[in-house]
Amino acid sequence: MASHKVVLHFPLHQLNQPVVNNLIKRYDLDFNILRAEVTPNERGFVVLELTGEEQNFCDGLAWLDTLGVTVQPLSEDVVRLDDRCTHCGACVTSCPVDALYVDRPSQAVIFDQEACIGCGICVDVCPPRAMVVQF
Ligand code: SF4
Ligand code: SF4
Repeated sequence: MASHKVVLHFPLHQLNQPVVNNLIKRYDLDFNILRAEVTPNERGFVVLELTGEEQNFCDGLAWLDTLGVTVQPLSEDVVRLDDRCTHCGACVTSCPVDALYVDRPSQAVIFDQEACIGCGICVDVCPPRAMVVQF
């Protein structure tokens, strides 16, 4: 048995489909939803802890890929290099838990490390590479 924390991002055409239910039934996985958010006609994601046989987990990921569902592993120890951050805001809409947000009225982008679940999404969208995952 193995346990994995992952973020699933759903394409528009899958937003109203029972993807997670089908995943756990097809691949005999247990799940715990850590966070979920769906904006109709825009985006949807769910942060899950999946538990089951490793092969079933891998097969499940392959099946999700055929549906166009993007799977991102959760990682740990995300930090922001403040001297690199330009407060451009590019990361704000990508963060699934609002750990990056714009402060008003200063317009500064704030990183709330306590709220961060370590998905690593901001690392890829930050132009000056200010968000870093430490291993
Ligand atoms: S994308 Fe990078 S540079 Fe822009 S606000 Fe976020 S952390 Fe700062
Ligand atoms: S890694 Fe980045 S995108 Fe993911 S939760 Fe933390 S701040 Fe948000």
